[in-house]
Amino acid sequence: MRFLVLLGAPGAGKGTQAMILAQRLGLPHVATGELFRAAVRAGTALGREAQQYMERGELVPDAITVDMLLERIDRPDAGEGVILDGFPRSRTQAEALEAALLERGMAVDRALLVDVPAEDLVGRLSGRWVCRLAGHPYHVISNPPRIPGICDVDGSALEQREDDRPEVVRARLARQLAPMQSVVEYYRARGVLRTVDGRQPIDDVTRDLIAAVETVRPGA
Ligand code: AMP
Repeated sequence: MRFLVLLGAPGAGKGTQAMILAQRLGLPHVATGELFRAAVRAGTALGREAQQYMERGELVPDAITVDMLLERIDRPDAGEGVILDGFPRSRTQAEALEAALLERGMAVDRALLVDVPAEDLVGRLSGRWVCRLAGHPYHVISNPPRIPGICDVDGSALEQREDDRPEVVRARLARQLAPMQSVVEYYRARGVLRTVDGRQPIDDVTRDLIAAVETVRPGA
């Protein structure tokens, strides 16, 4: 069982790393933002509720988010563990996760912080494009697709997310950095935090993240 939490500000490269790690470690990548976007695309009640918050760059209320997350981690494919991306976003969510995992006889094994200074983030986000089908992330400079505008993985069109527009980006950063820092401190206090320099090339960030989880025994 390996329960990993990936932490990083919007634009730190956390989503990219989560997908690579999921493949390398054979664990499902559970991204709450992607679960919400899938619900919006499917037009479910959850999606309609979440959409109003997402469009304003606000967090979806905890009650909705925590229920959705627990339903996901209780599915059979999460039995060996998960890579959690985009959750917890606040101390309250971290506490809710800890309580829910405790009931299941589990705990967060590692919280991995992909660290990028705040001043680099707006530029990184405004160059970000994601694929329409599955949200595979690209960056015009640091991680371009092989064919412009087309996803390498599934061939779908790339688009800029509504909430990656500069004015929404600034609102998201202002709202999310302080709560994220409180989550970082929460896991630091529990001795499970590892920090990786997110300004390095993608492969180097991956290498450092893998090194940080290698000390967690699979099946432990
Ligand atoms: P992300 O793809 O992680 O940037 O998430 C996109 C949007 O989904 C966020 O701006 C929030 O509106 C919502 N969201 C994702 N994860 C959470 C969470 N843990 N708590 C509340 N809202 C979330």
